[in-house]
Amino acid sequence: MSFRNVQKIPSPEEMQALAPLPEKLKQLKATRDAEIKAIAEGKSSKFLVIVGPCSADEEEAVCDYVYRLAGVQEKVADKLLLVPRIYTNKPRTTGEGYKGMLHQPDPESAPNMVDGILAIRRMHVRAMTESGLTAADEMLYPDNYIFVEDMLSYIAIGARSVENQQHRLTASGMHLPVGMKNPTSGDLTVMYNSINAAQGSHHFIYQGHEVETSGNPLAHAIMRGSVNKHGENIPNYHYEDLIFAAEMYAQRGLENPMIVVDTNHANSKKQFAQQIRIAKEVLHSRRHSDEVHKVVRGLMIESYIEEGAQKVGDGVYGKSITDACLGWADTERLLYTIAESV
Ligand code: PEP
Ligand code: MN
Repeated sequence: MSFRNVQKIPSPEEMQALAPLPEKLKQLKATRDAEIKAIAEGKSSKFLVIVGPCSADEEEAVCDYVYRLAGVQEKVADKLLLVPRIYTNKPRTTGEGYKGMLHQPDPESAPNMVDGILAIRRMHVRAMTESGLTAADEMLYPDNYIFVEDMLSYIAIGARSVENQQHRLTASGMHLPVGMKNPTSGDLTVMYNSINAAQGSHHFIYQGHEVETSGNPLAHAIMRGSVNKHGENIPNYHYEDLIFAAEMYAQRGLENPMIVVDTNHANSKKQFAQQIRIAKEVLHSRRHSDEVHKVVRGLMIESYIEEGAQKVGDGVYGKSITDACLGWADTERLLYTIAESV
């Protein structure tokens, strides 16, 4: 093996002691978790909007963003439940580039994963304290999830991970809504198989133990579009796609069917500004069909303070260093539009 031990990673308990979650934030998370769960179970008619930067690269700008979101949340509280994306582990299409705060708490410095975990925990505490909101992240590395599981309110399994057994089994032991994305190939069978796997109970090895999970009835679907063999993006947010996905969902007999539509990635063909039109189209489809209205209960939007994207090191405050995002002014307007049309 060519592995070189760089440093010993403290236990999850040690990490929690180094960057603890204060008691009142534990209560905040319990309240928010219950609200999100009620949406996933179809008991609340609020519409879920998971919104924020592609990657949470810097505490200051992320907390500034989440604080702005809290101002909107207050005004749309009867219609929408906003969950900030605080995404700290980034899958990379080619394996190259910024892997997220977990690896690099400073995107311009060498990796340090102990510092990364602590930076993430501190950023969550600050974001929760300042905004009263709890966040979503992608579980890219099932083994690392344990370091932040006391802080997150929503988990996504990415398009590149959704067919992976360890992700599915780990998701089956979570108590949170876990959104399973359609794979990059676009095969919805894979996504539904993954939801089925996560909803079941399993035995496997986790953190040095053989564990048994109870199954996660809150595992559900996220539609993000796909890429075909010619490398072209194929959206799956149109009316026909949603009807098709809803029917396939119903045939499977899965618990708590819920679809979240990701407005960026292959759905927008990475044209971030298209997210506004796509969100509006999805809302229109919901109004047009009871079936779509019932199952499509959320949107995922990539948004930050400044629109677009920049290279690591370009230094524009609040501008994405991974996928291009909507800017704040457009986001705020879009959130009010969503609240008026759900
Ligand atoms: C993301 O949400 O930023 C992401 C990487 O998504 P996907 O897994 O759909 O590519
Ligand atoms: Mn992204």
